Amino acid sequence: MKLFDVYPLNNITITKAQGSYVWDENGVQYLDMYGGHAVISIGHTHPHWVRRIEDQLEKIAFYSNSIHIPIQLELAKKLGEVSGKQDYQLFLCNSGAEANENALKLASFHTGRKKIIAFSKSFHGRTSLAVAATDNKSIVAPVNETDNIIFLPFNDQQALQDCFAKEGKEIAAVIIEGIQGVGGINIADESFLKLIRQLCDDYGAVYIADSVQCGYGRSGMFFSHDYAGVNADIYSMAKGMGNGFPIGGILIAPHIQPKYGMLGTTFGGNQLACAAALAVLEVIQQDQLIDVAKQRGQYLLNRLKTIEGLQNVRGRGLMIGFDVPEALKDLKKKLLFDHNVFTGEAKPNVIRLLPSLAITRKQVDEFLDVLKEAIAEITAHATENA
Ligand code: PMP
Repeated sequence: MKLFDVYPLNNITITKAQGSYVWDENGVQYLDMYGGHAVISIGHTHPHWVRRIEDQLEKIAFYSNSIHIPIQLELAKKLGEVSGKQDYQLFLCNSGAEANENALKLASFHTGRKKIIAFSKSFHGRTSLAVAATDNKSIVAPVNETDNIIFLPFNDQQALQDCFAKEGKEIAAVIIEGIQGVGGINIADESFLKLIRQLCDDYGAVYIADSVQCGYGRSGMFFSHDYAGVNADIYSMAKGMGNGFPIGGILIAPHIQPKYGMLGTTFGGNQLACAAALAVLEVIQQDQLIDVAKQRGQYLLNRLKTIEGLQNVRGRGLMIGFDVPEALKDLKKKLLFDHNVFTGEAKPNVIRLLPSLAITRKQVDEFLDVLKEAIAEITAHATENA
């Protein structure tokens, strides 16, 4: 059977990973500045994570949600402790799209309304409502098209105010990434997030913080919305939550009370996924990885700003992006094939860095050295050919 290539493939076969490194089938080592697309939070194959999953596997891997599952309670307690959102309820599912799908559905159940505000360059996943709220027409199937999504320009306070003034009573939810990932590392202004909070309060709409990519400590705060000092009504999470084990979830504020039947999924909250997610939180807590992400991210950001050729260096914590000019358009490929470094990208010309929160200072320096070398090589080559 042929395997469907979900993305255009780079011709590299990865067979092993540890911490911030991965190795291909020939034993060649790569530095992972992409974290498997923001998924690797505590480092590849972290020993505590491996042990936790193995221990759980020997006890019980799965039973469905109609019985008591103590490890789910343990996870909810730890997540409350680490995130500071103790008074929220946790609903567990399996991916970021599923988390957003449930968040949007719940907002509609809660308000009895249909309209959703989303923003330019947003990405919320590929299930029907999540994809409809994603600003990329090419991934919305005809069956997913709906007039219920209103797209507004990101960080545009006037447009948001005007929209609420016009149809505020029909708005079920506003969904926003605190830092847009797929859209190219765009940081929501703190004043914009505060305005969303205020307008949602004024009009009875639900504030959904899509924290699938920018959440779970990556920004140097547990949720990037914490920088604005606002509480969202629903936080969606996935990616870093399992460090590679598929798990997602939503945190639901106390004033929203889903009824039985509104939310549900067979595999959500399975014991193995909970063990993986608990291991992640234990390591985040023990190794103070949110502070590490903040400091190491700031160091990386400051150093990147001094490198000639990179434009508009931006980010928070270990979620960093920069624009590459036309002359450096091959930088990502060069980093991968000539210097064995994985990075991410965003259209049209952004390089995204989303390494493990446990990346060491030495590894950050290693990346910076290689980056400078790669830029110098491209520049020298261009001069030779001039
Ligand atoms: N929201 C955001 C902000 C994301 O970056 C992504 C994945 N790139 C998703 C939702 C969807 O997550 P998943 O691929 O786990 O469905």
